[in-house]
Amino acid sequence: MVDSGRASWDVAAFSARSHSLLLAAEGGLESRDPATGELVATVGVSSIAEVDDGIARAGSAVRRSAWRNDGALRARVLFRWAARMREQSERLAELLTREQGKTIGQARGELASSISMIEYNAGLARAIYGRSLALKEGVHGVMLREPVGVVAAITPWNYPLNLTIRAVAPALAAGNAVLVKPASLTPAIVVAAMQLLADDELPADIAAVVVGPGGTVGDRMVTHPEIDMIAFTGDSTTGINVMKSAADGLKRVSLELGGKSPNIVFADADMEKALAGAENAIFSAAGQICTAGSRLLLERSIRDEFLERLVARADAMRVGDGLDPATEMGPLVSREQKRTVLDYIGIGRSEGTVLAGGTAVEDGGLEHGNFVRPTIVADLPSDSRLVAEEVFGPVLAVQTFETEEEAVEIANASEFGLACGLWTNDLNRTWRLGRAIESGTIWINTYHHFYGEMEVGGFKRSGIGRQQGVEGLLEFTETKHLNFDSNPTLW
Ligand code: NDP
Repeated sequence: MVDSGRASWDVAAFSARSHSLLLAAEGGLESRDPATGELVATVGVSSIAEVDDGIARAGSAVRRSAWRNDGALRARVLFRWAARMREQSERLAELLTREQGKTIGQARGELASSISMIEYNAGLARAIYGRSLALKEGVHGVMLREPVGVVAAITPWNYPLNLTIRAVAPALAAGNAVLVKPASLTPAIVVAAMQLLADDELPADIAAVVVGPGGTVGDRMVTHPEIDMIAFTGDSTTGINVMKSAADGLKRVSLELGGKSPNIVFADADMEKALAGAENAIFSAAGQICTAGSRLLLERSIRDEFLERLVARADAMRVGDGLDPATEMGPLVSREQKRTVLDYIGIGRSEGTVLAGGTAVEDGGLEHGNFVRPTIVADLPSDSRLVAEEVFGPVLAVQTFETEEEAVEIANASEFGLACGLWTNDLNRTWRLGRAIESGTIWINTYHHFYGEMEVGGFKRSGIGRQQGVEGLLEFTETKHLNFDSNPTLW
């Protein structure tokens, strides 16, 4: 059951069929609105016995049902899931804003891209081709793509819907069974969306949601011998620990982790466009995006003008409740996240110059929420923690460069390699930097545009494997060689 002063949410009511995909007893985890502190949802917590049972049933289902061999069946189920999500998208967007804090416009965007991701993978479900080769006279080899088995999808709170669906849709399209564990701060939106997957043609136990702390429920999934693959999205340190735990069972892992992405503006760029891009890169979703352009690298000759105009934009941003259509930046997800972000701003204050923001919002009816003003910090030493570490909040660290070579050197001087922005009108430079920068995604004269068709993922400490696109689906498959020999004698 879900309850709040502003609206009453019953996550179970999102179920399209009587069968619930949530493996949990009544009550348990409380989700709170980060803008007001109000209770948004109470979601059942799964016991370890329920997790074990769900894994065993998923293993049995994926071995025994037609699911693993029938791409057309999987496509039908996934397309219908997308259709139900579209029908409910306004309610789901509101729940997402209430639970996570992002603006309603951003929540609608997350819904649209999640639905599109399901549809893309639904189409791919019928196109998972292998290869074949005539190897020698009378001998043929056939390479098959088969599902891995039971996939554990463990997901974070910042884009809870999109990042869950980014794993679940390709895993299901490839014929696997999936157990999802959402972040404990945002379980309701994930449970609500997963309930809409319930379908007359979905074999029982192929998909389920378990809810509970990462340290217990998540760890059980990672170490359980019958989990074949872990698709993890979250913090780099957690991801490294997940990989270590998974190593004992030699499980396949896909890790989508943190970032500290450089957004590089050259003097020849369209300044108006680059300003809007820099603002979006760091302040969208209050900076709680793995790909946030949290390091702004400015060519020295435009530094002062660019910063003056960016500070004016940051100061003018309307911070508030995400459900208010006028709001441009919502709250941070939790009190802990607000404290972490304010601590990083403290580092900025002592080591650099805070040009914009730098404080929490404690008035105007926002005192019960986790609001921090859009913050810009310049003049930081290159070894500052604010330059090196992921803040996951609306805090921009500004750096400057003189030459293209120096821009590349600063951009690559990071343990992360998730995303990068390049703003320039020099086509040859975009090619040179596009090759030189160590990053899974490089946006040229744009930022934060994702496409279900295009793979994303991290270099260095930002992850292993790719999500989205064809490669993202193939991550959820095993390759098998069938060898046919029609010769009368073998040796
Ligand atoms: P966390 O790593 O803290 O948590 C991610 C998920 O892992 C949660 O469901 C969490 O559960 C679970 N978890 C925590 N500990 C364990 C464990 N020992 N074993 C198994 N599961 C565990 O990340 P956040 O939720 O704080 O998300 C923010 C981070 O995610 C940022 O670093 C961000 O950069 C990264 N991220 C990366 C993306 C990418 O595509 N590269 C996309 C979005 C975010 P619980 O909530 O119960 O703790």
